[in-house]
Parts: sequence; structure tokens; C-alpha cells
Amino acid sequence: MHYRNDKCSNPLSVLGFGCMRFAKKGNAIDMEQAEKQIMAAYEAGVNYFDSAYIYPGSEAAIGEIFEKNGIREKIHIATKLPQYLISNKEALDRYFNEELKRLRTDYVDYYLMHHMTDVAMWEKLKAVGILEWIEEKKASGAIRNIGFSYHGNTDNFLKILNDYDWDVCQIQYNYLDEVSQAGRAGLKAAYEKGIPVIIMEPLRGGKLVNMLPEGARKAMAESSHAWSPAEWGLRWLYDQPEVTVVLSGMNTMEMVNENCRVASETFAHSLKEEDFKVFEAVKKAINENEKVGCTGCRYCMPCPKNVDIPGIFRSYNTMFIESKHQGRFQFAQTVGLTKEPAFASQCIECGKCEQHCPQNIPIRAKLKEADKALRPLPYKIGINLVRAFMFRGNKA
Ligand code: SF4
Ligand code: SF4
Repeated sequence: MHYRNDKCSNPLSVLGFGCMRFAKKGNAIDMEQAEKQIMAAYEAGVNYFDSAYIYPGSEAAIGEIFEKNGIREKIHIATKLPQYLISNKEALDRYFNEELKRLRTDYVDYYLMHHMTDVAMWEKLKAVGILEWIEEKKASGAIRNIGFSYHGNTDNFLKILNDYDWDVCQIQYNYLDEVSQAGRAGLKAAYEKGIPVIIMEPLRGGKLVNMLPEGARKAMAESSHAWSPAEWGLRWLYDQPEVTVVLSGMNTMEMVNENCRVASETFAHSLKEEDFKVFEAVKKAINENEKVGCTGCRYCMPCPKNVDIPGIFRSYNTMFIESKHQGRFQFAQTVGLTKEPAFASQCIECGKCEQHCPQNIPIRAKLKEADKALRPLPYKIGINLVRAFMFRGNKA
């Protein structure tokens, strides 16, 4: 196993155990399997285990397994505050204490604000007194490191990142998400500030393994490596020194063994030029169905009306590369639920963006097309209802 350091030079295993996808026995977690897999990963050197308040049964399961095997002090627990449920300071203590109880511990190594998508969420937490609360918990030793997990756009990621002296952050990142969500720009910004970056969805929830088109599989098979699609995805991440820990939601011994092997074989900057050509071919095959040839370069930004041009095109493409549902879900996360509305319908057709687009995309026309697909009436109503709840009636 290889290790990369956190802010206090604690070595973290480059492979982290994502505890949200344990195998089930009936409706409950299969504890026998979970224990075997967790202990096999631990024996192989994994020392970072990631959970969250809302992962059903996860905190209680790992709490029981760590206690039973006497390894609590030897590993790091990361878990998350359901920040979207917090409306007062008392709720902070209530959720945190419940998590400690489930985890059978009196401290959390890495405590993250869960699923932030907009700096407004962080502002809301500050208004209920989170800064003082964090200070208290860190002073008492109940929280050792504080951070946030993130699913919004790059701009909001940078705003949250720069607003506080974070110890850690967690982002969705893989070779398909290089320019979406926090993206490579966010990863590098965190690294430059010395903040360890934990990677979630390294294989896009398994899609980079199970849903690869024929052309992508062919490009991998014709390369000089006998790597599986999962190994290609993981190696792409480990190659980047800015990545600290890659989480994998493991639920079979086969996955544990393969992931531990890859994590112990790979180094930063170990991929060759020919390997990157394979990634280009794979991405080309995946993106063949895309509707707009937007590379996410952002030369068209900022738009005077705050339209999130690359974010809208990315989600529109996802509808055809992955599924309609996934595209609309991504749109809701990165565009639809930001505090400042960023919808295509705000476009006044000034044409400024088109003058800067190196891909010569007819942005104004494509925005209309994308908006129609991404926001059919029921979705429009749904997004506006959620916005009304989150931002008190900031409709678009
Ligand atoms: S044409 Fe529309 S999207 Fe482009 S810069 Fe002007 S307002 Fe923004
Ligand atoms: S400039 Fe063109 S290619 Fe670049 S992000 Fe904007 S629309 Fe996409």
C-alpha cells in the first residue's frame, strides 16, 4: 500500500474504503461479508474508512467491526454531517453525538459537511454558528480534522475552499469529470493550499466499468497493458500527485483484492504518453454520443447574465452519454441548485460568449436546445420548489 500525507503529515492510504455500498443480506448489511472485506483491506494497509450519517447502517456497521477487532486507534474514520438538515446549533450536537454513538467512538478523525453544492450552504451553516462549534469540537479532540464533500460547480467549490482553513475536502473526480464539478482546477487549487483531496466516484459509480461502449473497451484491450477498466480508472487518479485518497465502495473480496493490488503498484507520474492516448480514445468513444462539442475550457465565461454555459452543456451531454436521468440529476446538482440562478433562460443573446469559443459552438442556439431537454415542465417545477425551500423563492 502507498500512503500520502494529510495536513499534519499523518500517512493516509491512497486507497480508502467507501462504506456506502456494503453487500446486503435481506434488507440489512451482510455483517459477515463486510467484516471480512474491511479486515482484508486493513491487513493490506488501508487506513481510511469513509461513511456518512445518511448511508443506511454504515456508521453502526463499521463501529461494530472496528470495536470487535480492536482497530479503532489504528485507522481513520471519516464521516459526514447532514448539513442540509441543520437549522440551529443544537442540531449540530444532536447529529454529531448520534454519529459517535453509532460509530462506538468518542472522536472522528475527518468530519465533513456532506454534499455541499453552493457557497450559500456554507454561509447558512456559518449563520447557525458552525465556526464556533467546530472550534469547540476541535479543542475537545472530538473532531480531529474538518472538511467538506462537494458536488457543485468549480466556481462555488473555489469559494468554499477559500473561505475557511479546511483540513480536508472530498470531490467527485475521474477521467470523465476532469472539467465538471470541482474538476482538475479545484483539485489543483486545494493541493496548492496544502489541503488533502479525497476522491469519490473514481469510476462514476461503476459506469466506467460496466457501461463502457465497445470502442472504449477496444482501446483498452489493444493497449500494451492487461489492465481492467477499473484499473485504468484508478491508475489515472493515482498518477496525479494532487490526489490524496481514492475512495472505492467495495463490496466483494475480488474488488478489495484488485483495488489493494493497484494501490500498492502505482505511483504518481507513472503513466506514459501511450497510456494517455488510450484515455483519449476511451473518452472519445464515450463522448461519441455527445450533443455539444464543449470541452469545458470556460473561455466563454463569465456570462453577463450568469448562465453556466459549460455546466449546462456538460449535463446535456450526460443525458446522451449516460442517461436522461443522470444528465438531469447532474444539472440539478451543478446548475439548478446554486444560489445565483444560472439557467439558459436567463440568456439575453448578446453573443459575447460565442466570440470566445474555440470550438465555434453556436452557444445561444445550443443553450435553448439543452434547456428544453434538461428542464421539461415537471423538472422546472420541481427545481423551483427545491430552490424555494433552499433559497426562499429565488426562482428562474
Ligand atoms: S449570449 Fe447569452 S449565454 Fe452568451 S454571454 Fe450573452 S447572455 Fe451569456
Ligand atoms: S468556450 Fe466553448 S468549448 Fe469552452 S466552455 Fe465555453 S462553450 Fe464550451
